[in-house]
Amino acid sequence: MKKTRVIIIGSGPAGMAAALYTARAQLKPIVIVGNQLGGQAAITHEIENYPGFPGGIGGPELIERMKEHAESFGAEFVFDSVTSVDFTRGTPFTVKTMYEEYLADAVIVTIGADPRKLKVPGENEGIGKGVSYCGTCDGFFFRGKEIVVVGGGDSAIEEALFLTRFATSVTVIHRRDTLRAGVQLQKRAFENPKMAFIWDTVVDEITLDENGVVNGVKLTNLKTNEQWHHPTQGVFIFIGHDPNSKIFGEQLAMNDKGYVIIDERHRTSVEGVFAAGEIHDEIWRQVATSVGQGTSAAMSAIHWLDEHSDKLQPLEEAQASGD
Ligand code: NAP
Repeated sequence: MKKTRVIIIGSGPAGMAAALYTARAQLKPIVIVGNQLGGQAAITHEIENYPGFPGGIGGPELIERMKEHAESFGAEFVFDSVTSVDFTRGTPFTVKTMYEEYLADAVIVTIGADPRKLKVPGENEGIGKGVSYCGTCDGFFFRGKEIVVVGGGDSAIEEALFLTRFATSVTVIHRRDTLRAGVQLQKRAFENPKMAFIWDTVVDEITLDENGVVNGVKLTNLKTNEQWHHPTQGVFIFIGHDPNSKIFGEQLAMNDKGYVIIDERHRTSVEGVFAAGEIHDEIWRQVATSVGQGTSAAMSAIHWLDEHSDKLQPLEEAQASGD
């Protein structure tokens, strides 16, 4: 068992900012990276709206710089995933990962959100064989192919535009007749000759050929009830995200969608546990907002640890006793 002052669960922009601030406060934070270092930002091809980078910066490069920055002040990144936590007995909190067990005086939860699934037949079976949730990761494999994008928000349109670099055509299938995406993105999408739109329509099934490879989608027009098969070689799904809050069970207060509830100081319902980024934020979801939230959560955790310093066991003592 390892004892630490602060554990940060997750390594997206919120976790990176929390790591930087707690490291700079000499707290030697341990960051449990999770499945993907940098989270969703790391698989974003180009980030054009993070202040300080006119012309944009690649997601992987930004994440690498953030990691290096936090490490330079003493943050430790552990390539492991949290499997369970015990927040029920108060501080120190138990955090179990696949390979280790930690005791942490404070925890900052920045575990983010995962792409939402359509939950239609063929979707799970087609993952890696034509179904994807990440244009940046998989776009290259669809060079010269005809693909569809499901969704009408910023993510769907941004990714659809990116995918036009590879695919010969990108057809957006949206359940309404107006996009949710911002005006600028809409303008670029409507002007792009490779893009097409199927309105008021939902995907009922993703069809696969005899080798299990995607060959089309079964669609229903919600206004006319017309049903048809649309041939396609790729189905990119961008219909929102679900927070990764299952591992907390009922230990943290959450809203009905599973987002962790925090107060204005990023405190969760458990004293000593803080949260930042997309695990609690279902509205803004920007790299810049997550960085800000991670900073606030870290500052709150630093204050909390200071206030409780007389009650916390010195780290060296705890480590020596194996508590
Ligand atoms: P979103 O804004 O929630 O959009 C989800 C889209 O998927 C909506 O068009 C929704 O349709 C559709 N949808 C949801 N469930 C569906 C289902 N079961 N079947 C079919 N369609 C479904 O999600 P997002 O695009 O991931 O964006 C999330 C947040 O991140 C937003 O605040 C967005 O502004 C932000 N973001 C910003 C940028 C940027 O600034 N460059 C880039 C990406 C994301 P309806 O419209 O009918 O609800």
